[in-house]
Order: sequence, then C-alpha cells, then structure tokens
Amino acid sequence: MTTKPKLCPICRKPRDHALKQRSGSAEQNPFHPFCSPRCKDRDLARWLSDSYAVPGPPADPEAFASEQWREQD
Ligand SMILES: [Zn+2]
Repeated sequence: MTTKPKLCPICRKPRDHALKQRSGSAEQNPFHPFCSPRCKDRDLARWLSDSYAVPGPPADPEAFASEQWREQD
C-alpha cells in the first residue's frame, strides 16, 4: 500500500516527513494542512493581505470604457 506524501501548500514540503519528526502522527498535526506554524501563518497573512489590498471602490469596466469614449470625442 502506497500513500502519496501530502505536501504543505505553502512550502511544498511533504508534511508527513515534518510530522514524523514532530509527533509521529498526521492526525495530531495542529497546523493542518500545513507543515508548521510558520507556514500556517504565511497562508493566513496571504489571505489577509488579499482582503485588505482592495484600493477604494471596485473598478467598473463600463465606466472606464465610457471615459475612453469621451476622450476620443
Ligand atoms: Zn510548509
């Protein structure tokens, strides 16, 4: 029976290997699905920076297009 090593979505390292050094059981991984608290933090920071990176109101492609029309007139 072969099991695919599950990779940490952040650093792409096989989690099972890191876990064997840590606790010996994947079920006890408190950082699931990451290999370490560091990678878990990095993922969380990425999500937060995505949601906070919205600069003002969302861009309206139609308004942008009509402004271009006006400039050409
Ligand atoms: Zn990782």
